[in-house]
Amino acid sequence: MKKITLTHTIFAGIILGIAGGSLLGPAILPVAEPLATLFLRLLRMVIMPLIITSILSGVLSIGTARGLGSLGLKTGIYYITTSLLAICTGQLLVNIFRPGAGASIGLQEQVTELPAADQSIKDLLFRIIPENPFQSIANGDVLPVIFFCILFGFFITRLEDDYRLPLTRVIQGAFEAMMQITRLVLWLAPLGVFGINAKLVATTGIGAFKSLGFYFLIVLAGLFIHALVSLPLLLKLVGRVKPFKHYRNLLPVFFTAFSTSSSMATLPVNLECTHKGSGVSDKITNFTLPIGATVNMDGTALYECVAVIFIAQVYGIELNFSQQLVVVMMSLLVSVGAAGIPMVGLVMMSIILRAVNLPLEGVGIILAVDRILDMFRTTVNVLSDSCGAVIVAHLEGEELEKIR
Ligand code: ASP
Repeated sequence: MKKITLTHTIFAGIILGIAGGSLLGPAILPVAEPLATLFLRLLRMVIMPLIITSILSGVLSIGTARGLGSLGLKTGIYYITTSLLAICTGQLLVNIFRPGAGASIGLQEQVTELPAADQSIKDLLFRIIPENPFQSIANGDVLPVIFFCILFGFFITRLEDDYRLPLTRVIQGAFEAMMQITRLVLWLAPLGVFGINAKLVATTGIGAFKSLGFYFLIVLAGLFIHALVSLPLLLKLVGRVKPFKHYRNLLPVFFTAFSTSSSMATLPVNLECTHKGSGVSDKITNFTLPIGATVNMDGTALYECVAVIFIAQVYGIELNFSQQLVVVMMSLLVSVGAAGIPMVGLVMMSIILRAVNLPLEGVGIILAVDRILDMFRTTVNVLSDSCGAVIVAHLEGEELEKIR
């Protein structure tokens, strides 16, 4: 009952925010802005300590190198499979419908403020190893922190009981306390999403939600197919659970992802709903969800692929088979390397454009609708993380009776 109330009030927050923002315009900003800032700051406040404590307590409850390896392998296979599935869905749609062919979209939009991602894929991979873990924590670099925590947790499990048991209790206690704080933050979510949506609509106008275009629809169609066909099929066939029963528990997750456009900011909500709502053990959610929030981005991967091929179409450039293969592989790698924060997908696109020799200015073409697509792709990103936790839990022999 409590969960349903929260879901309803968050949803009401979104609707009231959109309505208030479009009716009152900038007049709503003095109310909307502080609410949005308050909520986002609270969410960001919990992210780092939550990641550290949840990964550590996840690794500690998995316990052994074999357990860790088996869970890591299953999770990894799931992440790669679903990302590739998403990319291929997008690739198919954009090649069939060719939204960019002959499009008279102004190439005039400038990309002045857009920071081009200048790291190569190699750099991205090296950056997983932190030079200074504390600096990574302070900078909010999630991947190096996860890497360090897995190592640290693993070696705690190998200590003598004298050291291992008290450390484990402290870490598990810290994690529980973080979850209590998270629940408090969640409680403010309806006001937060009201503020975020009211601010977005008041500053960009309701037109932001309407300026669609064929390209927009193709990305959206791909995301919906992935969320409503591919992932449910996997849940049913591999996870042996009822997909939409699981989805119902995730409504607060969807609303938060949609409003914040950030997988990371949604992580606290996802940990709560996947564990409490759908009954996946926290051993598995604590391990898979923080990693998923950074490396598993099906929505972003799909979007990268569609956007790059679309840009090529607009420029009248035909990408041959091997170039499209490069786009597919790069979309996968870029989605792994992208941080789970707003608009990162757009920035990372420059890496792919460069790899297939397309003009970087191409990003300017899709800028107008990107903010809105970010909301949808982030929702798919976090959905896939949660489905991954369910499937891995099933493969690890968990009951999951709440969603059978
Ligand atoms: N905003 C997305 C996320 O946090 C990443 C992206 O820009 O595609 O999942």
